[in-house]
Amino acid sequence: MESANKARKTKIIATLGPATSDADTLAAMVEAGVNIARINMSHATPDQVRKNVETIRYVSDLLKQPVGILMDLQGPAIRTGDLPTALDLQPGNRIALTVRGEVSEEEHSVDVNYEHLVDDIKVGDVVLVDNGGIHLKVLSKKRNQLTCEVLTEGVLGSRRHINLPGVRVKLPALTDKDIQDVELGIELGVDFIAMSFCREAEDVLKLKAILDYRKAKQRVVAKLEDQEGIRNLAGIIEEADAIMVARGDLGIECPYEELPIIQRRIVKACVTAGRPVIVATHMLESMIDNPSPTRAEITDVSNAVFEQCDAIMLSGETSVGKYPLKCLEIMDRIAQRVERSGGANYAEHARLDTKGAKMVKAAVVMAREIRADALIVFTRSGGMARNAAWLRPESTPLYAFTDRERLLNQLTIHWGIAPFMMAFEDDPSLNVDHAIDILKAHGKLKAGDTVVAVTEVSVRGRMIDTILSETVE
Ligand code: PEP
Repeated sequence: MESANKARKTKIIATLGPATSDADTLAAMVEAGVNIARINMSHATPDQVRKNVETIRYVSDLLKQPVGILMDLQGPAIRTGDLPTALDLQPGNRIALTVRGEVSEEEHSVDVNYEHLVDDIKVGDVVLVDNGGIHLKVLSKKRNQLTCEVLTEGVLGSRRHINLPGVRVKLPALTDKDIQDVELGIELGVDFIAMSFCREAEDVLKLKAILDYRKAKQRVVAKLEDQEGIRNLAGIIEEADAIMVARGDLGIECPYEELPIIQRRIVKACVTAGRPVIVATHMLESMIDNPSPTRAEITDVSNAVFEQCDAIMLSGETSVGKYPLKCLEIMDRIAQRVERSGGANYAEHARLDTKGAKMVKAAVVMAREIRADALIVFTRSGGMARNAAWLRPESTPLYAFTDRERLLNQLTIHWGIAPFMMAFEDDPSLNVDHAIDILKAHGKLKAGDTVVAVTEVSVRGRMIDTILSETVE
């Protein structure tokens, strides 16, 4: 296994784009530490997605390194329409936001793709356009038009993103495009599907119902991007397989001074509940154009690592940035250094609700006490591996063995887990020996090392779970 992934416990997700879609660049990225490749469905065409998936699987086989594939759905975004020329907006100007193709008499006007805009908004509300760059205050409403005053200057181009902070919008959980993209993701066998603007547990269940109906095994990542999602945090955590703190939109939808508090609250709630959590967006934003990060970015990445989120994510930095490999190298260095200095340890409050989880806890404590060189778990559904990652065992390397390829790729999201493929024997005692052989072959263990394994043993013809400790021969 490559050097960058050797010791790092926090996983790295990199978004693919024009700068990073060919096999050579992807291979270099995986060697530099990428655990999961993200395909952003706001930009990728179906043909690009097919090509990306094929290339990632090829590179993963070539390097014998599991790489997860995350399809990130566009979600129900509100956008302005096409404009023949960009609008140069100055404070005090008026602009009409129209729906249903209304033609306005205002000097500046643009159509919006969300027909309930006028119903959802009150006079006096502020509409944020182009990732929060342009602020518009609503002066008056007509059936198909909002007339707004421009509060901050900016140039408005075509198809810009609109945010309505604090407004409860009637957008569907999944658009028609999202549903088509989910079908494509199922067909191509991606590992994770991320749902943008997840506002309540019911949204997650809608996507899960499609997956269940199609007997598909993709894991659902709920992206928390607005105040409603935060209000419904507990229910969403309950239903989703993983959570993303999508700070790009969250930072617009919520007062920005709340953002660090919201991030910590989400990470703490996820770690406590044993749900994988990703911290995303603007982690090394300045490196889209510059070869080194700002001091603030270094601190931001290290905070997320200190909070012990499962994964940190790069977006524009790797999709369109000039220095994708440098970004990975820097994230890897920061993560490894901060992990050595200790973390927030929210896992202390973990509500271990199953026998399996309690058993893994006993193994983690034992591995720490005897200073084991490896903690090994075997997993067919991912449960044992999830339990082990949940407890954030800082001092013992964690190895999960599975006989299922899909699961192997899905284990890439979990904090601390190095996943391996292995055929399971009918006699589980042989599995421990085989796992040790594989780890020796990868240079992870040597003679004299101690391992702790959570496994099954046969006692009077019955299989029971047990914790074993062995010295490597
Ligand atoms: C975000 O808003 O932080 C995010 C990850 O979503 P997207 O980039 O897909 O809009």
